[in-house]
Amino acid sequence: MHPDLAKLVVLQEFDIEAKRLRDQIAALPRLVAALELKAAATQGQRAVVLDLIAKEEALRRRLESDIADQRLKLVRTQKKIDAATNTIQVTALEHEAAFARAEINRMEDAELESMERSEALDAQQAIADQTVAELAQQLQRERTRTNNLLAIDRAALAEIDAKRSALRAEIAQSDTGEDSLATYDRISRSKGTAVSQAIHQQCSACQMMVRPQRWNDLRDNSAESPASQTMMTCENCGHLLYYDPARDTPQPKPVRSESIAAQIVRSSI
Ligand SMILES: [Zn+2]
Repeated sequence: MHPDLAKLVVLQEFDIEAKRLRDQIAALPRLVAALELKAAATQGQRAVVLDLIAKEEALRRRLESDIADQRLKLVRTQKKIDAATNTIQVTALEHEAAFARAEINRMEDAELESMERSEALDAQQAIADQTVAELAQQLQRERTRTNNLLAIDRAALAEIDAKRSALRAEIAQSDTGEDSLATYDRISRSKGTAVSQAIHQQCSACQMMVRPQRWNDLRDNSAESPASQTMMTCENCGHLLYYDPARDTPQPKPVRSESIAAQIVRSSI
């Protein structure tokens, strides 16, 4: 393998890990943001319930006050009836009294209905209080967990970035290093990754077969081999190809199935 390529293989591992960490760091706060939205929505729902409770209370205060007015009016009317001297006056006043009593009844009914609504609203508020409290706790836990994970990921990323920089500097020191890095960066930019392992005579990036001569060159680890002199690319996808004998394990042989009869015959021989 070309000496630069051996280092680029490691560089790619660092780059992939750095990208994974960056993606994770970007994704981590999303759950917190979603929970914050949910918490805000729940608080909004609770505020609506509280507002309705306040309105019912205000309605009952108004009704109480109006009922008290009507009762006063009734007392006054009753006094006027007692003091009345003719039937016409009495009839008119009794009309007034009846109206006041009907009004009092109507408003007392309205007050009862309001109290029933308040009871239902109180139950809703209890649920809303609980949900708000639970979400606040969940949010707090998630914030702590996220911050811990972010700290771990950021530390890991800083470590990987330092390793990447050091490795790039090391690669750049060889005669071909700058060019190799430029090739690596160019392929990385267009394809996401630059280096692809050839396994079982296949490019692992595009799965295309490597032609026999190229495959032989790739596997030839001598100093004179083309793969040691230059960085070879996949003819199909353009990735830099490398061969790692340690990872190119032989294909597992298919298990030979033997009938029970055949086994018996074999064991009896
Ligand atoms: Zn390929």
